[in-house]
Amino acid sequence: MRPTTNNLLSFIGKIAVVTGAGAGIGRAIALRLAGAGATVAVLDKDEQQARQTLEAITQAGGTGCSWSADVGNGPAVTNIFQEIAVTFGRVDILVNNAGIYPVAPIDELSDELLDKVFAVNLRGALYCLREAGRQMQGGGVIINISSIDSLRPSAPGLGAYGASKAALNALTRSAAVEYGPRGIRVNAILPGVIVTEGTSIMPDEARQFYASRTPLGRNGVPDDIAGAVLLLASPLACFVTGQTLIVDGGFTING
Ligand code: NAD
Repeated sequence: MRPTTNNLLSFIGKIAVVTGAGAGIGRAIALRLAGAGATVAVLDKDEQQARQTLEAITQAGGTGCSWSADVGNGPAVTNIFQEIAVTFGRVDILVNNAGIYPVAPIDELSDELLDKVFAVNLRGALYCLREAGRQMQGGGVIINISSIDSLRPSAPGLGAYGASKAALNALTRSAAVEYGPRGIRVNAILPGVIVTEGTSIMPDEARQFYASRTPLGRNGVPDDIAGAVLLLASPLACFVTGQTLIVDGGFTING
């Protein structure tokens, strides 16, 4: 019998780097990839949270290492990818998940905050993508965690955030074109509202509003995004590149 679909969702022997893996969506992605057999480099600006994710991975029988750095710091990212190369030999999968979404109306948006949002959400993703791309000489997979806010604002005050994620979508397409000939696929996932540590400050009414407008009847959980990451990272998606996959329970198509 030929290999089954299940084998195609195995990541045994793969080296995956997940940024912002200390909490929320990133932690779920790291745990899922490790659960499917990948060795996971857990990267987060919060050293303790990165270690906690690694502990959860090893307690579940998986393998990995943790590093702490701000992805918006180019030299720090270069150093970490060098350390990852020394530790694991290469990178097969990169998930650019680290991101911030401060709420600030355009009238009140300071230059500092604008710089910070772009430093983390765009430049941070680019730094990691560039370093991973250099190591992926035999092909690879890069997944950028964008947002439905890159397509249309889900609330006022997310102008800088939406713009940074729209730029990330553009970077995804450019990287797919440049890296395709080397066998590297680059895609973006655009989550809807996902209940995480970061969105815990959202008022209950807002949470209920989004759920009520979502055809699947609920807000997302981190594992909803982790599942889509596994799909795009797997050979099942071997001819998919340069795409932006919305994972929002149908929210954006609902009027
Ligand atoms: P979160 O705030 O719950 O967790 C983010 C993690 O990233 C934290 O561990 C944090 O320490 C880390 N991090 C933040 N800045 C970093 C930096 N500069 N360098 C390294 N690590 C950093 O966030 P989340 O809700 O899980 O969101 C994760 C990603 O998903 C973000 O890119 C976000 O824009 C995107 N997203 C989230 C939602 C949502 O509703 N939660 C919706 C759409 C898109």
